[in-house]
Amino acid sequence: MKIQIPIEKFKDIKTPFYYYDVKLLQQTLDVIKKEIDKYPNYYVHYAIKANANPLILDLISKSGLGADCVSGGEISAAIKAGFPSDKIVFAGVGKSDWEINLGLENDIFCFNVESIPELEIINELAAVKNKVAKICFRINPDVGAHTHANITTGLAENKFGIAMEDMEFVVSKAAEMKNVEFIGLHFHIGSQILEMDDFIALSKRINELQNRLEAENITVKHINVGGGLGIDYLKPDENPIPNFTDFFKTYAENLILRKGQCLHFELGRAVVGQCGNLITKTLFIKKGIQKQFCIVDAGMTDLIRPALYGAFHLVENLSSNEPKEKYDVVGPICESSDVFVKDFELNKCHRGDYLAIRSAGAYGEIMASTYNCRELPKGYSSEEFKS
Ligand SMILES: *Cc1c(COP(=O)(O)O)cnc(C)c1O
Repeated sequence: MKIQIPIEKFKDIKTPFYYYDVKLLQQTLDVIKKEIDKYPNYYVHYAIKANANPLILDLISKSGLGADCVSGGEISAAIKAGFPSDKIVFAGVGKSDWEINLGLENDIFCFNVESIPELEIINELAAVKNKVAKICFRINPDVGAHTHANITTGLAENKFGIAMEDMEFVVSKAAEMKNVEFIGLHFHIGSQILEMDDFIALSKRINELQNRLEAENITVKHINVGGGLGIDYLKPDENPIPNFTDFFKTYAENLILRKGQCLHFELGRAVVGQCGNLITKTLFIKKGIQKQFCIVDAGMTDLIRPALYGAFHLVENLSSNEPKEKYDVVGPICESSDVFVKDFELNKCHRGDYLAIRSAGAYGEIMASTYNCRELPKGYSSEEFKS
């Protein structure tokens, strides 16, 4: 089955570009809302870094989600898009002073703190403003996620978070400081996770850590388990919306919350991944000795995930129904890694055919670069092509 994309309306639009199926995004947001409504103490923050296109942020902020930011620029983008600042969480190992100040000025909900030196600076900067910054500690739970090595973040050797052994120490440190208020624990074990067992392992680890805190008579108001829920890159049409039911249920069944505790999630890819398609035009078909190459006008500068992570994105020829042939679909960038798929079957390709590179809504447009002095790709809403 091919995705319904109105290529006849693309004639005047410069390729490559991102085409966002906003109907699918809205359906995804509706499902998330329906699921979290089952759990009155659950809160979802959208991870802005997955896609910060204003048209996407607008829809998501209207749906009532909070925002998970990892930079000052993202805080500004979130506020501009209408996310209330008291629903903004701010993570990152290297927060600059101006970024911390921006968070303080906007009275964001929480800073997710990743080290003692950072805690000290937040305390200092908050004192200057006569404010008390709410903080969660990002604890490294040493839980490995079954995902690509470059996107697992919760192992002991990652740069992220504070070691579990140091938890009691950093909590006691925060208690001595006047301008920070310790409100909870934060975790994030990685991305594109499809094994619910990984979330169960995290839940069990959090249960242990909460027991340890309780032994010291400390209960926190907030637990934040981060994001990481994956999407189906192989079958985007069969599984356009991730299984949020199982995801939230897994936490509900395995993470033991204390009375009055709130559970926070930071979902990026699962929200926006499937709604985005990178639309590109075929430039040339080049016959090699063993292979044929379909050379397209999109490259790793528009979608870097295949080159960076070895990620797979389904490719479809939107212009042809001729019998399938095998191609390496490659871009024009002067790098050997500028390849989308290898030995992949596509309906016979010709110069001028439109190809859709699927499931490109997350970590696609936002990671685009101008390498080779290329223009950044634009992103369009499917609504713009309606007759
Ligand atoms: C990237 C990131 C997320 C979102 O991850 P997804 O896999 O896109 O859901 C959430 N929290 C933190 C701290 C992150 O760095």
